[in-house]
Amino acid sequence: MLETTIAGSLPKPFWLAEPKKLWAPWAQSGAALAEAKRDATLLVLKEQEDAGIDIVSDGEQSRQHFVHGFLAEIDGIDFERRVAMGIRNNRYTAEVPTVTGALKRKRPVHATEAAMARAHTRRKLKFTLPGPMTIIDTVADAHYGDRVKMAMRFAEILNEEALELEAAGVDVIQFDEPAFNVYMDWVKDWGIEALHRARQGLRCTTAVHICYGYGIQANIDWKATLGSEWRQYEEIFPALARSRIDQVSLECINSRVPIELLKLLDGKDVLLGAIDVATDKVETPEEVAATIRRAAKFVAPERIQPCTNCGMAPLDRGVAYGKLRALAAGAAVVRKELRP
Ligand code: ZN
Repeated sequence: MLETTIAGSLPKPFWLAEPKKLWAPWAQSGAALAEAKRDATLLVLKEQEDAGIDIVSDGEQSRQHFVHGFLAEIDGIDFERRVAMGIRNNRYTAEVPTVTGALKRKRPVHATEAAMARAHTRRKLKFTLPGPMTIIDTVADAHYGDRVKMAMRFAEILNEEALELEAAGVDVIQFDEPAFNVYMDWVKDWGIEALHRARQGLRCTTAVHICYGYGIQANIDWKATLGSEWRQYEEIFPALARSRIDQVSLECINSRVPIELLKLLDGKDVLLGAIDVATDKVETPEEVAATIRRAAKFVAPERIQPCTNCGMAPLDRGVAYGKLRALAAGAAVVRKELRP
């Protein structure tokens, strides 16, 4: 009960990439980069275990960005043809690559780090992939002329990758869909259908992560415009509750999400954001416990997995691991209350 996990990314050591930065440039190249990625993956597994995290991840040490790390191995995308595009409904502008031809996976994207991670931890292993809607919101299209058609093609490609990750011994495959909180109508029209295509044939646990974004300034400014109550989840949770995705990872602590919305996820595991990734202040175990107790009024504790609000890639390493220890300690406090 109350198994702890993380949303996905963890800070990279300075010898792998420039610290405290999204899209951080690699600090190595060639064989040295491959070795640094491998070493960092081993390190983050050990640090998660030591912190007391039950369902661990590779901390996304082998990818530069949660979307473009995957796209780098897909044919049909021209990374030289970068376009400045407003993404997440124009919340911020990003330099995105362009789809210029039929999409096809060149080779397995994450096979190396998945096999490495599996060989070095006995804990349950989670692997994250970008979701189809978030991918199409992060590329320009000069080929398909139809965003939904392009999303479905990405879903097929994600499915090929997911089936291989499962075969490599991954226990949980999570699709990251921050775009679900932006295009709520699309979620119901085709977003969940695309996730179903991406998870087709999987027997492992599947999750979707839906947050309000990394703790970067553009997101902090956007959140300030959302009013006193953030009700985006209210529009999409009922459809997710009916979906074939097992778990929903969401933002909770320090958000303005009304906690009673969690009951709309009846039947799903809730990966409860009990760690704020937008502040360097490390939560106390008691703050984590308080968040879990609030959620437990609306979700059975057996269905709660205390988690981080989002990825921790841009944080200081010491801060991030302090937060992981607080997460595990807070979950232990509540576990003891429920089963003294
Ligand atoms: Zn997130």
